[in-house]
Amino acid sequence: MADKKTAPKKPAAKTAPKATSRAGEKKKSEAGPAPRIQPTKRLVDSLCYTAAAPESEKIAADLRRHVTVTLGNDFDRPSAYTYSQGLSYAVRDRLIDQWIKTQRSMYENGTKRVYYLSLEFLPGRFLANSILNLGIEEDVEAALKGTRLTLADLEEQEAEPGLGNGGLGRLASCYLDSMATLGIPGYGYGISYAYGIFRQDIEDGRQVEKADNWLHYGTPWGFQRTKHLYSVHFGGYVRPYTDHEGNTRFHWVAEQRLKAMALDIMVPGYKNGYATNMRLWVAKADKAFDLQFFNSGDYIGALENKIMSEKISMVLYPDDTEMAGKELRLKQQYFFVSATMQDIVRRFRKKGVPWTDLPKYVAVQLNETHPAIAIPELMRMLVDGEHMDWDDAWATCVRTFAYTNHTVLPEALEKWPAELMERLLPRHMQIIYEINRRFLQEVAMRFTGDTERLRRMSLIEEGEDKQVRMAFLAIIGSHTVNGVAALHSELITKTIFRDFFEMYPERFTNITNGVTPRRFLAQCNKPLARLITEAVGDGWQTHLDRIKGLAPLAEDAAFRESWLDIRKANKQALGSLVSDLCGVRPDPESLFDVQVKRIHEYKRQLLNCLHLITLLNRLRDNPGLEMTPRTVLFAGKAAPGYAMAKLIIRLISSVAYAVNTDPAVGGRLRAAFLPNYSVSQAEHIIPACDLSEQISTAGMEASGTGNMKFALNGALTIGTYDGANIEILEEVGAENFFLFGLRVEDVLEKRRGGYDPRAVCTEHPELARAIGMIATGYFSPGEPDLYAPIVRSLLDGGDFFMVMADYADYVRTQDEAARVFADPHEWAKRSILNTAGMGKFSSDRSIMEYATRIWGVTPLALDT
Ligand SMILES: *Cc1c(COP(=O)(O)O)cnc(C)c1O
Repeated sequence: MADKKTAPKKPAAKTAPKATSRAGEKKKSEAGPAPRIQPTKRLVDSLCYTAAAPESEKIAADLRRHVTVTLGNDFDRPSAYTYSQGLSYAVRDRLIDQWIKTQRSMYENGTKRVYYLSLEFLPGRFLANSILNLGIEEDVEAALKGTRLTLADLEEQEAEPGLGNGGLGRLASCYLDSMATLGIPGYGYGISYAYGIFRQDIEDGRQVEKADNWLHYGTPWGFQRTKHLYSVHFGGYVRPYTDHEGNTRFHWVAEQRLKAMALDIMVPGYKNGYATNMRLWVAKADKAFDLQFFNSGDYIGALENKIMSEKISMVLYPDDTEMAGKELRLKQQYFFVSATMQDIVRRFRKKGVPWTDLPKYVAVQLNETHPAIAIPELMRMLVDGEHMDWDDAWATCVRTFAYTNHTVLPEALEKWPAELMERLLPRHMQIIYEINRRFLQEVAMRFTGDTERLRRMSLIEEGEDKQVRMAFLAIIGSHTVNGVAALHSELITKTIFRDFFEMYPERFTNITNGVTPRRFLAQCNKPLARLITEAVGDGWQTHLDRIKGLAPLAEDAAFRESWLDIRKANKQALGSLVSDLCGVRPDPESLFDVQVKRIHEYKRQLLNCLHLITLLNRLRDNPGLEMTPRTVLFAGKAAPGYAMAKLIIRLISSVAYAVNTDPAVGGRLRAAFLPNYSVSQAEHIIPACDLSEQISTAGMEASGTGNMKFALNGALTIGTYDGANIEILEEVGAENFFLFGLRVEDVLEKRRGGYDPRAVCTEHPELARAIGMIATGYFSPGEPDLYAPIVRSLLDGGDFFMVMADYADYVRTQDEAARVFADPHEWAKRSILNTAGMGKFSSDRSIMEYATRIWGVTPLALDT
């Protein structure tokens, strides 16, 4: 069109490489009047290359093509943002082949597929990871030569999709990475929230939440399936009817209808020509449904309905460990589940096999109970839709689903008011009652006369407002229930799920979490990754157990030097970031002591803060003190409604300010709270951490995965006997781990009675002094009562999280860590042995366990 007018008359043939000149070009060059400005070379010609051209040249040409043709920008006026977009398209081009190939081979192979259902994903940025997994980093670097922009500059431009709160969402993304890398046939399913987790600003030491509109500029990494829509229903009533065979059947007459549109994102495997799909649903108004309003002349009503519908995928609930109980959240869950199950069933139907064969072809993993409504949804599809007999349908369901539990915190266990469920999902509520009726019959037969047990195990919590217990529904509707670390899996069988363990002991198992060594070592810590490859050869990226080959090198002084040099450079880099974000410049020689994770009382940032105050006091008392210089870094978001967590952030900021401005400190101690913790920030922090704080109250952190990322990068852990810390300690050796604090049994014992935090406080003068300073306003001049709620919870509120009880042992262990750090070679030795001991904690190992022990799927043969 426009081309025809501006195309030059002749020279195209001369400049275009022959092999790629297209048939259509000749016509163009013959048509149209002479252009006013005669370019020396047509743009499209400069974008062509031959198949034999080196990859770096192809990438350069593709970058140029996308910046100009796709994005409509002038290539010669480079902006980091448009180049970043252009490069993303160029990289995406290289993934599409393998993505299509993967989908096709899954289809042709016809084997069982895994569906990983998660309301949260935290994938992190895509560009750097795609480049790593494609193995084209050097080519990209070469392609960017002469553009004045570095790859790192371009990578920093990308908005991170914050579609999760923390560990649970990041785990889902590590698992997709591993499924793609191992060639496990499967998909991730989630929601494309328009607004992900909020952006956290720190203003005057306070957390301020800002909207995170990650899709504002669109994303090159997703494909919108605008024609591929599923209908999702809410509300209305259930109409019973009798079918022609005389059976009573049920028909759900819904009141609200909307559509689910797929956004597909490619998840590449590591250098294996494979790419898995992450399908995220977007809520769209149902046009046909709106038409009713338009036709009746209710124009505003029609638009209101559109807004109401599209609100469903608008925002991620930012509560990490608290059950929100909001109607919109339940709608999100069902919207997600309904669209996903329709998609799964559509694929299964093509096989033309009986419905009872569903579990032969489909495994559905429920990441927490958030998608547990999938169980009654499948029952509804089978019983109401396919007229399957209830018992057959139920057996099919149970063999299809498996459920992962992530928490023992009672406040996190999902319960939905029966009234709300009845209103939004009337047919599902009926099905839940029927599941419950049959289940309680079974319980009554097994445990005759135990009516108390029936009450405890019922899916319905009786009371003024009846509640549906989603975890119980997930257990009885699944063939396997797993916890996420050995201790956690054992605890759930003894506490929250004890009755269910007695009923179905064979259902319960453990699969310890893992993290992907691609993003969390190969990508985020390239210098260390290179050194590791020199030492143990390539291949550790996908066979992490091979990293144990580093262990003998812990004794090699030259290797330790190289190890320390890299760590120091990483610390310098993080130092600049801290300086930019917080105005505090850390000493790269100092001990980098890091606690980054969601802010929660059970994770005990307070304990760390009390230690920081203790160090400050030691320096104030004795300005000449010989002390291992230390930089204490915090980061993490607090749920917007969690007042105590927000107050803890404020306290940390206040204490950090006091530390950084006290003349007695003299640079030996620095502290900072980094705003807006995220996956990409984690990637900057992890390689520079010496001491990883994993100090949850024993029994309360289900697994943790931050602990694994840090140790993998050579941090030593100071930690409690909790979650996966225990297994890390077993793998790296107790002599390379700073263990402290109460064990689970001790915590439970103290909670049963006789624990007096005030008495503990008086016993330890350093603790009493730190608490006294917080209580009397040392850190909040002019507002002496600001931190009173913190002091009250520690002294008068029973100190549920055992901060006071663990203080003394924690400080003693911190002193030990500081002493060891003063000997760099001793520290380096332990650091190397930590990395060397992390083979078990690859998410590849976790996924292979799920595949063999839960899903019954095998990797596809990859023809790379
Ligand atoms: C790994 C990770 C987490 C989980 O950290 P824990 O220390 O296990 O709580 C949370 N958020 C982000 C961004 C992460 O990368």
